[in-house]
Amino acid sequence: MIKRDLMETLADETMICRKCGLWKLRKNAVLGEGDLDANVMLIGEAPGYWEDVKGRPFVGTAGKVLDETLSRAGISRSDIYITNVVKCRPPENRDPRTSEIETCTPYLDRQIRIVKPKFVVTLGRHATSYVLAKVGFESEGITKIHGRVYETKLLGFKVSVIPMYHPAAALYKAKYRDTLYKDFRTLKLELERLR
Ligand code: URA
Ligand code: SF4
Repeated sequence: MIKRDLMETLADETMICRKCGLWKLRKNAVLGEGDLDANVMLIGEAPGYWEDVKGRPFVGTAGKVLDETLSRAGISRSDIYITNVVKCRPPENRDPRTSEIETCTPYLDRQIRIVKPKFVVTLGRHATSYVLAKVGFESEGITKIHGRVYETKLLGFKVSVIPMYHPAAALYKAKYRDTLYKDFRTLKLELERLR
């Protein structure tokens, strides 16, 4: 099957998925969107209010911060693939539970296998600890490790994992916005080295 068909199958599955309790309040499962051949996959935490309404990732206030930061860093949103650790919105935007993350992440793993990105950017604590645990690194806290480039093997192929602050954390803190920008510049420079 070609990538688009594989991803459509996944989208159909998540739209009717009831494997964890988060299906109950969702309007839409948010699988993700973007270039299926992207060099970069961005992994956030979970859909928020607007993501749930629209069925698309990062289209609310955190999405605005993300879009601004990407464009400032010279990275086009249409060139990357964007998704989340869990696909349905937790009530009141609470943190996703460990059990919900465990139940939902087989979908994420299938997405990673389809896109096969060279860079995986984990936004915030949940995405970072999920991915780093998978590749056998200890996640030491995002304040310490953001912007580092972990060259590793994920699901059997070579990737560089770059943890970053979650854009929602940067919403009201100029300092974090600056850090996020610098970390995306790191990614941009890495991407230029690919050419
Ligand atoms: N926050 C996330 O982690 N993901 C989204 O898609 C939106 C906000
Ligand atoms: Fe299924 Fe994931 Fe939604 Fe839970 S969050 S219902 S596992 S798609």
